[in-house]
Amino acid sequence: MRKETRLAHHPRAKLPKGNESLVEPVYRSVKFRFGDIASSLTPEARGEGYEYTRDANPTTRQLEQLTAELQGRDDAVCVSTGMASAWLAALGNLGAGDRVVCFLESYRPIRVMVRQRLSRLGIDHVLLSVHDLEGMEKVFSADDTRCLIFEAPTNPMVQVPDLRAITTLARAHDVVTILDNTFGGLHNHGQFDIDYYIHSLTKYASGHGDVMGGVVIADRERLRDLKPLATNMGATLDPGAAFLILRGLRTYALRYRRHSESALTVAEFLSGHPRVERVCYPGLADDPGHRLASEQMDGYGGVLSFDLKGDGQQAWRFIDALQLFATVSSIGSTESLVAPVKLYFAGDLSEEECRRAGIRENTVRLAVGLEDTGDLIADLEQAFSAAFQ
Ligand SMILES: *Cc1c(COP(=O)(O)O)cnc(C)c1O
Repeated sequence: MRKETRLAHHPRAKLPKGNESLVEPVYRSVKFRFGDIASSLTPEARGEGYEYTRDANPTTRQLEQLTAELQGRDDAVCVSTGMASAWLAALGNLGAGDRVVCFLESYRPIRVMVRQRLSRLGIDHVLLSVHDLEGMEKVFSADDTRCLIFEAPTNPMVQVPDLRAITTLARAHDVVTILDNTFGGLHNHGQFDIDYYIHSLTKYASGHGDVMGGVVIADRERLRDLKPLATNMGATLDPGAAFLILRGLRTYALRYRRHSESALTVAEFLSGHPRVERVCYPGLADDPGHRLASEQMDGYGGVLSFDLKGDGQQAWRFIDALQLFATVSSIGSTESLVAPVKLYFAGDLSEEECRRAGIRENTVRLAVGLEDTGDLIADLEQAFSAAFQ
């Protein structure tokens, strides 16, 4: 074989029988071949075999099987981002003439998808508060209400919806439930009667802020139609990204627990601080969501929001003075993050909608990382001093 040919046809390092790598290899290949035409021609002939990475890939499949099992369902489809998982679940369940219910307290890009994008496809929507069970019952009763997209707890205000009440109402009215469980995490909320879970794997799952991914998790039957849609849509998760997320997941349980413990320590510090007006964190015993979250979840997560006793200017100064908390609109990384809630997450809401969502000029969201909590509290303390000097 000439060298040019060898460069296109590498030798392979084969493992002897019984010899395995402890970490599974990354299948970066776009294409997979079969022995001959006959065994590549039909789904029956291909069997469990792989063909093209946009359809399926063994590394991505490993991540799908793991996330499905953690969430307590039997199948999953991975996609390139959390938003792609929201789109996949929405497009797979909605068509012109349908109505979708979404919430004021929700993650802004999901509201934008519903209000600005799905509406152009002839899909109507209603925006409610996640605590408005009466409003939900009314909208669910309409024949053309098809779908509900919600979060538990919500981003950014960490509100805790009553999952049993909402799923019972939705089931009674044949409304499909899509739970964005990014804040809850893969180990939470599997016991509820949810049709589809969507997750941003960019956050707690990968955990290191260096890779993006998303997943839709459901029973196999429900994903039968969604898989061809995902393949055709082409928002494929890169197998290298799938590998990084799989690596992150090895420490997921440790990280989620530590994020939750540290967030509670920070929330308790803030609750007792003279410059703080209100803290929203379901781990606090006096938080309105505490009872529900304690029943529904294992760990309250690493995100909390609070209002400074001051105006928007003081909140701005406080955030700019923080050293360890980076000013970014993400969560679930090793490092701590901070965001001005109204400026970063409420640009699409009217003043009245902000008021109903509990978002004020002086509201600050913290995503507590894995640092020493003493250092984090010292950083918050010096930022209060800087903001109020
Ligand atoms: C970040 C996030 C998303 C979107 O995920 P991406 O991976 O950034 O696309 C969706 N929902 C919630 C609650 C999030 O926090």
